[in-house]
Amino acid sequence: MQYWSKAYIPTLKESPAEAEIESHKLLLRAGLVRKIGGGLYAFLPLGKRVLDKVSQICREEMNAAGAIELLMPAVLPAEQWKAGPRWNAVREVMYSVSSAGADAKISEDPQYVLGPTHEEVITPLIGSEISSYRDLGKTFYQIQTKYRNEIRPRYGLMRAREFIMKDGYSFDESDEKAEETYHQMAAAYEKFFARCGLKFISVEADTGIMGGAFSHEFMVPAEVGDDDVVYCEESGYAANVEKASSGIVTDGLSVEAPEGEVVEFETPGATTINALAKEPYKVAAARQYKTLLYVGDDKLFAIVIRGCDDLQESKLGSLGYEFVRPATPDEIESVMGAKPGSLGVVNGTIKQRDRLDGVFADDAIRLIGNGVTGANKDGFHLKHVNVERDLDIDNFGDFRQVKPGEPCPKSGKPLKIARAIEVGHIFKLGTKFSESEFWGAKFHDSEKQTKPAVMGCYGIGVSRTIQAVIEQSRDKWGIVWPWSVSPYQVIITVLDPGMEDAAELAKKIGSAAESEGADVLVDDRDERPGVKFKDADLIGIPLRVTIGGRGLKEGIVEVKWRIEDDVRKVAIDQVVEVVTSSIRDKNSS
Ligand code: ATP
Ligand code: MG
Repeated sequence: MQYWSKAYIPTLKESPAEAEIESHKLLLRAGLVRKIGGGLYAFLPLGKRVLDKVSQICREEMNAAGAIELLMPAVLPAEQWKAGPRWNAVREVMYSVSSAGADAKISEDPQYVLGPTHEEVITPLIGSEISSYRDLGKTFYQIQTKYRNEIRPRYGLMRAREFIMKDGYSFDESDEKAEETYHQMAAAYEKFFARCGLKFISVEADTGIMGGAFSHEFMVPAEVGDDDVVYCEESGYAANVEKASSGIVTDGLSVEAPEGEVVEFETPGATTINALAKEPYKVAAARQYKTLLYVGDDKLFAIVIRGCDDLQESKLGSLGYEFVRPATPDEIESVMGAKPGSLGVVNGTIKQRDRLDGVFADDAIRLIGNGVTGANKDGFHLKHVNVERDLDIDNFGDFRQVKPGEPCPKSGKPLKIARAIEVGHIFKLGTKFSESEFWGAKFHDSEKQTKPAVMGCYGIGVSRTIQAVIEQSRDKWGIVWPWSVSPYQVIITVLDPGMEDAAELAKKIGSAAESEGADVLVDDRDERPGVKFKDADLIGIPLRVTIGGRGLKEGIVEVKWRIEDDVRKVAIDQVVEVVTSSIRDKNSS
């Protein structure tokens, strides 16, 4: 039993200016966290209790799924990362540490880095431990502090520079077994998020710099999320917009036949899709081919989409370049022969076609059939450009961003898009990490053949999950904690803490509640009732028992659920039974 007067729960009436979103305000107002620096937070005692509860639920579900807990250091030799497959991409978000003397600079070439995640550490670690297929079929996890130099830390624990993650890694002997493990982990994730009281969906996700075969994200729908989820209620299709595709281009779509010879026309000053859509040209955006130039690992490539579409940059990942960036106007002009605004990929019009590493086109341009594109001559465009006859395209693919209302690829019904918070992400990695020559995780199979282990990796943003719970579960009075993760389940509000009977009764109810497994906070502060009720609502404790002087004389106490308006008056000799049976109900549901 925790007495409030001896605890440290610094609630705030007003929300500090630093907080922009409700869950961040409540984290501060309820005294759960305090800011130490940009993206750096201290967990105050109440916040630490929630963190421990969420971590424990996570641990239980990981253990139940057969995963084994370990702990790796957070300070890591940079060497190990440099030898790995994604140093160049991942170093952008890594903090480095120097062990040298005072004159040592935080260098370009650090000695140590702070772990943003641990594939580069666990793969060689387990690689040196395992030798036979008999050692495989193992999943390891840790719950640990991670460090990422986020460009824009914001929203409190949502996007922090230092945060708590559960990261897990599986090692299997075959693809099939790795997939089984992946599905077991996905099931454990569903149980974990459900036990945290979250409403969430699992969606198909882009694999990004992790590469690997496939991946799912666990998303909590919320306006303040950083991700867009595309979904169909009819078919259950759900994917991150980075990965989502729609059914606008049907299989076997036949392209319109050419409608005449390609004709060049003058378009002085018209360098945008919009300008061409207006007088005097009046070419609808949906009839224009838009040509964009990118650089992938120092090689220029072109990508063609419809004028009415947006490129989904994450989909360029499928092209296999490690680094992709938009080309500069100079790079574009030297290869294409024109400035952006008059670009196109019509056969024979590109100044130095051999300097393009590839010309890729979005499937949806086949819906245009015959359209308009730049002539690679400033101030000129071409019309009657036929997709099949005239465009110099190496490969078609899915590169566009899905828009709401487009047909679901499975059911054909209109797709919806909603904002969401990513709280977990699982990947089937394959052998990307394990196959490394000097560094990987290899084993002998039953025929004594050496093979790389087939890996998966699994992350949960433990601290982000806490804030997602608050974002989803709150009202105008404060946090409404789900029973399972509430810092305390029961608050006993003693209105006249000086009265001996009241203190006695509080102790009796509190002990009984504790013996049922609830955590109990007794508000014994010398404060006005209004202050106590407001604080209890703000910190969001699910069950409140109020012991007042007058009620005590009449032989009653009040029992109230945080989520209900009704106050139940209960006879003193029944209150222990009412409280304990409520707790039993909650613990068994
Ligand atoms: P995001 O897309 O939000 O940047 P990510 O894809 O980089 O996240 P992962 O590498 O998959 O994240 O990490 C696993 C989990 O860790 C994420 O699902 C998320 O819940 C959490 N997480 C990642 N970055 C942060 C951060 N800066 N602050 C708090 N939690 C984070
Ligand atoms: Mg992710």
